[in-house]
Amino acid sequence: DKQVILRDYVSGFPKDTNMELRESTMKLRLLEGSNGLLVKNLYLSCDPYMKFRMTKPDVPDYVQAFRPGSLITGYGVARVLESGHPDFKKGDLLWGLTGWEEYTLITAPETCFKIEHTNVPLSYYTGLLGKTGMTAYAGFFEVCSPKKGETVFISAASGAVGQLVGQFAKLFGCYVVGSAGSKEKSYCSLPNFIVLKVAFAAIFAKKVDLLKNKFGFDDAFNCKEELDLDAALKRCFPEGIDIYFENVGGKMLDAVLLSMKLHGRIAICGMISQYNLEQPEGIHNLTNFILKRIRMEGFVVSDYYHLYPKFLETVLPQIKEGKIVYVEDTTEGLENAPTALIGLFSGRNVGKQVVVVSHE
Ligand code: NDP
Repeated sequence: DKQVILRDYVSGFPKDTNMELRESTMKLRLLEGSNGLLVKNLYLSCDPYMKFRMTKPDVPDYVQAFRPGSLITGYGVARVLESGHPDFKKGDLLWGLTGWEEYTLITAPETCFKIEHTNVPLSYYTGLLGKTGMTAYAGFFEVCSPKKGETVFISAASGAVGQLVGQFAKLFGCYVVGSAGSKEKSYCSLPNFIVLKVAFAAIFAKKVDLLKNKFGFDDAFNCKEELDLDAALKRCFPEGIDIYFENVGGKMLDAVLLSMKLHGRIAICGMISQYNLEQPEGIHNLTNFILKRIRMEGFVVSDYYHLYPKFLETVLPQIKEGKIVYVEDTTEGLENAPTALIGLFSGRNVGKQVVVVSHE
């Protein structure tokens, strides 16, 4: 059983050498009377929050830290090989927390969701139909309190969460603008040919073009090319922003505050630009909160999992009717998972970063 383990704690930007692939000799099997599951992992999700789990824990335990030498765990899609749990049987598919390895013993199956609808790509359950989709759905509809016709701005908009927030907002009847970094990508460090093939395809799919032409955003700009973010936002939103869906933090948040409308709402989903800095950047335009009566709220998706059935009921038909599309960046092979994960922090991914462990 191949596994990816944390080699040493991450400080600053994560590197692929902070993780390593090893061969485990331990024979995984369900113990007599256990209510766990033995699963074969198919697809793994790369998520920015995983970086926090790789850092020496002196921060509040928002997520449980990995230890050097221990297995990396994260969200994924898996097939049940053996089950001691009444809700799952051999052959079932599920998504939830699993290991970055070929086979995993899941000891808390109640945290996993059984996959009932398989007439969509299974990898979607790492993103669109899993935690990522729920993040976009709960963040937009529950936290942003949108109204038809409002103006919405999304940062890291072509990413896993952002592309969905934009499409939900468009379907809801909002005016939607996104920012993304569209610098061409350098994949020289990636080892295998299949990864390179995916990468070359992605180079041509510039992120800003995706926003406008694939996801149907009303407008978009490249945040790496705009020297003056305030001017770019004023150009896109001459009347101001009602809703900001925050994925990056730092300078972008500071600039957005200048363009927020009266009674605007900001959903703090993530602040990826700050995750690897020793000192977070200061925010200078805070008085706008008072003058414009802005409401800002952070959220964590797991608080909203009770909405999952309602979410599926809404989104599955939208996928079938072609109203929601989804772009994934697929990396083949568990051995390439560390490189795929760290690519999130330089914007190397185009869309949801997925790792294929096995196709069946
Ligand atoms: P993405 O697919 O959007 O990948 C991350 C993207 O962030 C990159 O592609 C890049 O896009 C951008 N980025 C990376 N580094 C920087 C930087 N230094 N400055 C500005 N942008 C940067 O990831 P997700 O969609 O999975 O996650 C998006 C955000 O949502 C993250 O902040 C994540 O932590 C958060 N999140 C929060 C959850 C919650 O429960 N609150 C749940 C899931 C995610 P580009 O090239 O366009 O700049």
